[in-house]
Amino acid sequence: MQASVTPFDLPLLASSLAALSGVGPVTAKRLAARGIKTWGDGLFFLPARYQDRRTPTQVQALEEGRLAVVRGRVVSGGLLGKKGKVYRLFLEDATGRLACLWFRFKRAHLESFSPDDELFVVGEVSLGNKGEAQMIHPELYRAGDVGPDHPSVGRIVPVYPEVEGVGAGTVRRFMGELVQRSTELIFDPLPGLLPKDIYPMPAAEALSKAHQPNHDATPQDLDPDQAAWRQTLAMNELLYFELGLVLKRRGREASPAQALDPPGKLLAGLLAALPFSLTPGQQEAVGLIQGDLARSHPMGRLLCGDVGTGKTVVAAAAACLAVEAGAQVAVMAPTEVLARQHLATLSRYLEPLGVSVALAVGGGNGADQAARLAAAQGGAQALVGTHALLGQKLSFANLGLVIIDEQHRFGVHQRLALAAKAKSPHLLVLSATPIPRTLALALAGHLEISDLPERPQGPHKVGTMALEFEHRKAAVDELSAVLGRGEQAYVICPLVEASDKIEAQDAVATARNLARYFPDQRVELLHGRMEGPEQQEVLGRFRSGESRVLVATTVVEVGVDVPEATLMIVLGAERFGLSQLHQLRGRVGRGVKRGRCILVAGPNPGDLAQQRLAVLAKTVDGREIAEADLHLRGPGEAMGERQSGLPPFKVARWERDARQVPRLREIIAVWLKEDPELAGEKLAPVKKEAIRRWGRRLGLAEAG
Ligand code: ADP
Ligand code: MG
Repeated sequence: MQASVTPFDLPLLASSLAALSGVGPVTAKRLAARGIKTWGDGLFFLPARYQDRRTPTQVQALEEGRLAVVRGRVVSGGLLGKKGKVYRLFLEDATGRLACLWFRFKRAHLESFSPDDELFVVGEVSLGNKGEAQMIHPELYRAGDVGPDHPSVGRIVPVYPEVEGVGAGTVRRFMGELVQRSTELIFDPLPGLLPKDIYPMPAAEALSKAHQPNHDATPQDLDPDQAAWRQTLAMNELLYFELGLVLKRRGREASPAQALDPPGKLLAGLLAALPFSLTPGQQEAVGLIQGDLARSHPMGRLLCGDVGTGKTVVAAAAACLAVEAGAQVAVMAPTEVLARQHLATLSRYLEPLGVSVALAVGGGNGADQAARLAAAQGGAQALVGTHALLGQKLSFANLGLVIIDEQHRFGVHQRLALAAKAKSPHLLVLSATPIPRTLALALAGHLEISDLPERPQGPHKVGTMALEFEHRKAAVDELSAVLGRGEQAYVICPLVEASDKIEAQDAVATARNLARYFPDQRVELLHGRMEGPEQQEVLGRFRSGESRVLVATTVVEVGVDVPEATLMIVLGAERFGLSQLHQLRGRVGRGVKRGRCILVAGPNPGDLAQQRLAVLAKTVDGREIAEADLHLRGPGEAMGERQSGLPPFKVARWERDARQVPRLREIIAVWLKEDPELAGEKLAPVKKEAIRRWGRRLGLAEAG
């Protein structure tokens, strides 16, 4: 595994926490189990809240239920009652008497306090039987030991999230040492370059305020959601990320690429052969792509369009341009099913124009592999495939354009691997919209975005209904009705096979049950663990109508086009992202008949499920749905942490900080205007840091 990058340019932050006093091997291990291993990790293990222990409260003024510090003199102490299970210490100040009680205690320790000893006690105030103030299991400190730097008294004390097996006091102590030994060494070039409201203080100060609030901290400083230190740390992360994206884009714009600027005969041929004319959105996209390809720098374009907006034709148009200019085109799809669907469509468009199209999917025997290789090395002008296109052995004769149909399944890494197959191929990424605007900016920060706003056949209306688990029988009734009319249906399950851990409907059992329930209908099963050829056979029988019900996992999410399929039932629907469900239902009602989608929640759907599924019943707008999901669940869950491709930020939260990103971008744009190479005294360190943090992950040339 690649060593992780320290959060700031300070090698010391890669040190193990075990190097701090008070962190023995056992504590280190327990911290590591929480992912807290290095000093850098420790600095970003931030307090969840704070306790205000600045000033002692007089006994008379104690309030029930609140944490308080009391300074007083011991009056008396001793075991209570006959059994001696409780130890009580009375403390007194000028205003009253406080009882401190222990149910678990080290007797010798408590007996070491004698009358007239001056103590500080810290604890939550409760009321005794007679309404007198008391504290149960308070912390005790001798007044003589409490100096100005005491970690627990006379200050605001951070409360860290609990770490199993590591005491709160231990955490506070070593974090104190960590902050003291490291923050001063953190160099931050950003203050002075960013306005105060964006970036209120240097990162070092932010970290030390987070862990050790000043004595004069305001309530806002002590709210980890509102504090200026949080703003600073979040912007520190976002700024470098955004700058990384800008550098990425500039790198691409500066690198040479094969200009693909043919007369356009193939494209004209393609358009002439289409049974329809392009929508305005498609026309615009094709025009932009044509312009991009003609330049001697690589295109980087993201084409966003909801299911059914006609992205494939646009991709075919791009392929025509590249091929006519003498280059090869690679088209990569997330699943073999989709790759084959693309192969069929693209062959239909391109082969009549004399363009050779070949398939490259994984597996197969030696002969298949040799065929792939031959195709790549010049035998085919367009190669359609899965991740097999990334195979080390596959080298292309003259790859000029890479088209990735991604349905948010490929991460940045895969994109880069394919892009590395040619010096700098032109890149076109297709995405079935549901990337919310705010996310699209982050995910595709280095790509130009084109939208296909309209569906050529008008909005795809699929009547959608959400059912609770107890009412699932209604879905079976509907299925029965659909089959009775001679139509077909999909039943989608979240899992292939039952698992003990996850209680969700599995495809294997569902297919078995439905086959039993509908003995005179052919029910078939399709899932990603089946071999490619077997999948093709199953799909073929469904397409031809030989089988009537297709029970499947999400392999059908994309690329299956069966006009007679009018019903989609999704089991365990809450387990899918809304956008994913939206894409799924786009599979039905593609013929003349209207489609219908029934979302059946699992037995324990959770609180949000109903609300989320209701969104789908209400709207057909993919973007609106994606925004709603983002809003309800945050980007990680809404899109799948890995699928979202979002970088793991430590402090920044996309849903709350994204609105500041446009300003960061403006600021970066101004920097670049003033100092295009970011080589000046002020900006060089910022550029260096962006490359240090993001160079490898974003594949920046400068990262070496
Ligand atoms: P998606 O964007 O989901 O990949 P497709 O490219 O599969 O959409 O197109 C969906 C359907 O719309 C296809 O059957 C395609 O032939 C058809 N189509 C595409 N563009 C147009 C158009 N301009 N007019 C009419 N039909 C179109
Ligand atoms: Mg498509």
